Amino acid sequence: MTTPPIASVSLDLDNLWAYLKTHGDAEWERMPSFLPAAVPRLLELFGEHGVTGTVFAVGADVEREDGAKAVAAFAAGGHEVANHSYRHEPWLHRYSHTELETELARTEEAIVAAGAPAPVGFRGPGFSVSSALVEVLTERGYRYDASTLPTWTGPLARAFHNRTAPPGDPRRDELFGGFSQVFAPNTAYRWRTCSRAELVELPVTTMPLLRVPVHGAYVLALHQISPRLARRYFATALRLCRALGVSPSLLVHPTDVLGATEAPGMEFFPGMAVPTERKVALLGWMLATVRASFTVVGTGEHVTRVRPLRRDRDVRGLDRGR
Ligand SMILES: [Zn+2]
Repeated sequence: MTTPPIASVSLDLDNLWAYLKTHGDAEWERMPSFLPAAVPRLLELFGEHGVTGTVFAVGADVEREDGAKAVAAFAAGGHEVANHSYRHEPWLHRYSHTELETELARTEEAIVAAGAPAPVGFRGPGFSVSSALVEVLTERGYRYDASTLPTWTGPLARAFHNRTAPPGDPRRDELFGGFSQVFAPNTAYRWRTCSRAELVELPVTTMPLLRVPVHGAYVLALHQISPRLARRYFATALRLCRALGVSPSLLVHPTDVLGATEAPGMEFFPGMAVPTERKVALLGWMLATVRASFTVVGTGEHVTRVRPLRRDRDVRGLDRGR
C-alpha cells in the first residue's frame, strides 16, 4: 500500500482585536479576545480528526494569559507553534529591518515563555511579505516562511473589506496584495537571497488552475449560498491537488468555529452569519476530507517532507506588485 501524499493544516490564531484593528474600528484598543471560546473547540476538532498541525501565534496575545494558555495547550497536543508577528499588522511589508526584528523577537520570546519551542516558521498577517522580511527571517535562522497566497483575488478581497471600513488610512489600500500574486508558485520553493542560508516558502494553497482561495472565509461565504456548493468546491480543490501533484497547505482561522455573537463587531466579515454548529460541522467535514486522501502534518513537517523543487524566486520581486 502506498502512503498518501502530504498535506498540511495550519491555524492562524488571529484574535478579535486584530480584525477590528485592520478594519479601523477604535474598539480594537481594548484588545477584545475570542480565544477562550475558539481554542477549546479547535483543539477538540483537531483531536477528533487526528490532525496535528501548526499554530501561527500573535505575540501580543501570547504575552497575555489567554494567548499563553492557548499556545501551551496546542504545544501539549503535539502541534507546532510558529510566529505570526507581534502586532498583527497586515502592512508588515512596510516595516524596516529593525522593526521586523523587534516584531519577530518579541513573539519568539513570548512563545518560549509560554512553554513551546522557539519558532522556525513565520506567516505575515494578511499575507504581507517583503524582501526585508525574508532577509530577517533568514538571519534569525528560520527554516520557512508561509506568507504567500498565490491568487488573483487579493484586490477583490480588499475592495470587499474596505467597503465597510472607515476611510482615511492609506495602508489599507495595500491590503492582501495585488493581481500579480497570481503568478507566484502554488507549491514550496526556495527564496533567492544574498545570504547563503536557505529559506523555504510554503504558499497557502489556492485551487490549482483557477487560483482561488480554499480557506475558511471563502468556503463559508459559499456555504451561506449553498452548503452543497461549498463542499463541492473544497473537494474539487483537493482532487485537483492530487491530480496535479500539489501538496496542499490548508489554512484555518478561529472565525471558522465562531458564531456572530462570539465575534461582536465582525459583522462585515464573510461567513459570520453561519451559526456555530454549522461552522464546526463544516470544518470537521473539511478535516475528514483532507485526511481521507492525504497524510496530514503541520507546515514545518510539510517543508521537511516535500523537498522544494527549485531555488527559483528572486526575493527582490516581492517588493513589486503591491
Ligand atoms: Zn492573521
